[in-house]
Amino acid sequence: MHQKPGPMTRNELPAGRLLPQEEVQSTLARQLHNGAGLAETLGNLQQWSESVGYYDHLAGRNTYLSFSSEEWNTDLRLQVNYARIGYTPPTGDRPACPLCAENIGTPGKEKLRVYQFELNQRVYFAHLTPFPLHPGHFVVNRWEHLPMHLSRGAFEDAATFVEKCPGWLAASNSDLLWAGASVLQHHHFQAFPNLRLPIQDATALNTTTINNTVTSMLKWPCPSLRLYGKTGEVVETAFRLLQQWKKPEPGKRTCNFLMESIPHGKACLHIILRHSDHRTHPDLLPIKSEGVGIIEMAGELILPPRPNMTPEENRDYFTSIGGDLIPRLIGQNSPPPHLATAFFQTINWN
Ligand SMILES: [Zn+2]
Repeated sequence: MHQKPGPMTRNELPAGRLLPQEEVQSTLARQLHNGAGLAETLGNLQQWSESVGYYDHLAGRNTYLSFSSEEWNTDLRLQVNYARIGYTPPTGDRPACPLCAENIGTPGKEKLRVYQFELNQRVYFAHLTPFPLHPGHFVVNRWEHLPMHLSRGAFEDAATFVEKCPGWLAASNSDLLWAGASVLQHHHFQAFPNLRLPIQDATALNTTTINNTVTSMLKWPCPSLRLYGKTGEVVETAFRLLQQWKKPEPGKRTCNFLMESIPHGKACLHIILRHSDHRTHPDLLPIKSEGVGIIEMAGELILPPRPNMTPEENRDYFTSIGGDLIPRLIGQNSPPPHLATAFFQTINWN
């Protein structure tokens, strides 16, 4: 059901030959000018990056597990993350911000190249994450060093990005520490070609129309909404709902979101409510000590392998506990039901 945009033109980046950033940018920009879409351009960057060994540091392939769940109407998923095993970050003088463009070509990031483009007159650049969760996993960053924010423009830019890259999914973490944030100091979102996450198949419980946007409350282990409609109206509704949710406790309440483009100028947006007081409980910290982000709240956990277990033992272990663990971890990282209920009561459900 996903569009797989195959290369329509030849990739003009020379396979296997590392080029300076300026040349990568000018080559890709020329191809885009000559009719390649943004998705094809990023696909070319990915293909070429692989050819110059951008992923050579990856320690191993992740184990992907899936758990059929009648309760949540979808398969929940879990990745055992082997990619980072034994990885030591580069030492010495590092740029202060891990996402700023000044990282390009620095020690440990010699093969990092990016593509710069505009979304709604704001300058962005996309780079491949060195530890992809799925093939073609990009991070799309503002060129300017601006803190993470969930403004109207942030929703709008994610929507424009997926409109330019049909079939892609944009996934955003939040703007608050301990509430599904990743790198707070630099505005960014993640982008994946051909990815569908479990929450996208969650059942709608209540549905109403706000500002021409079909808005549904979802049956999911954390309070979440699905918005569907004309892109501009979805963006406006999302922004207003988020302001409404944040209002009683600014600095504690926020959201994660997933944006996908629907043909004919429409968008589908999933909003997952977050609250910085509600995070992984001590019982699960030995399994997941890092913060829990958008991909995980959307139904795909990313966990480090258990130490002292072989990959086979890890597979068996997580296969046995995954079905219960996934909704429990999502639930622990959710605002409590009474806060979500009070917020949902402010929405006039049909
Ligand atoms: Zn930065």
